[in-house]
Amino acid sequence: YMDFDGKVVLITGATAGIGRATALAFAKRGARLVIGDMAEAAEETAAACRDLGTEAVYLKTNVSETADVQALVNLADSRFNGLDVAFNNAGILPATKPLADVTEAEFDRILAVDLRGVFLSMKYEIPLMLRSGGGAIINTSSVAGVVADPGMAPYAAAKHGVAGLTRAAALDYATQNIRINALAPGLIETPMTQRWLADPEISASLMANSPMKRAAKPEEIAATVLLLASPGATFVNGAVFVADGGQTAH
Ligand code: NAD
Repeated sequence: YMDFDGKVVLITGATAGIGRATALAFAKRGARLVIGDMAEAAEETAAACRDLGTEAVYLKTNVSETADVQALVNLADSRFNGLDVAFNNAGILPATKPLADVTEAEFDRILAVDLRGVFLSMKYEIPLMLRSGGGAIINTSSVAGVVADPGMAPYAAAKHGVAGLTRAAALDYATQNIRINALAPGLIETPMTQRWLADPEISASLMANSPMKRAAKPEEIAATVLLLASPGATFVNGAVFVADGGQTAH
């Protein structure tokens, strides 16, 4: 199922962590990559994909900005003449604090990246995908889009929003050969969670709360993204697919 030879795959948020691991996993299976990230360090991810023998391009992209997202999708069109898979993964995790301490600017910024970014990405990807004969979209939600933890109100709102956007969009295009799913990772070892995992006390409490007593490697989440994008998931649509080692099972 995992052959993506010649497929065009667009990924946002790929300097490191889940996005980079996913770009490399697709590249290893022959996909051509279009990588959008605000951080220019993501150019290195495109270079690493090219080292694996495939074509890959990077464009500096802020997923909150319409013009940037349009330019990224246009790049997929002009370079590769279509779009088969989109992994809308760029996101930020704010510092935890109780709701009344969250400033309006902080709230707006998190929603702009984690929710508006996914809306804009899909808005411009879908027309190109329709012209390409269909495709698969995977949006990165989170276990915070399924349940909530204290101190996480804006992030939980955005990630629950991604789940809602995904379900509704999946229904909009269900007869047009586009499958749209959300992935809800649990605790993954990435730069985002580095500040928690490096703290012995926080890390111990996270592990105590983890049924499998560990965080996942980004490569494990990448494999699940590939599955959702693949012919192994042809009837999976509108799902919020949890990959959390059982964290939300109890
Ligand atoms: P990460 O910080 O390594 O990756 C986030 C990427 O998004 C970075 O490359 C960053 O430069 C990019 N980015 C941030 N703002 C952007 C913007 N406005 N425009 C374009 N790119 C932007 O962390 P990660 O853990 O790999 O995160 C990937 C996704 O997974 C995020 O959506 C995150 O919320 C989600 N997630 C992570 C975990 C976890 O435990 N690590 C759990 C659940 C969900």
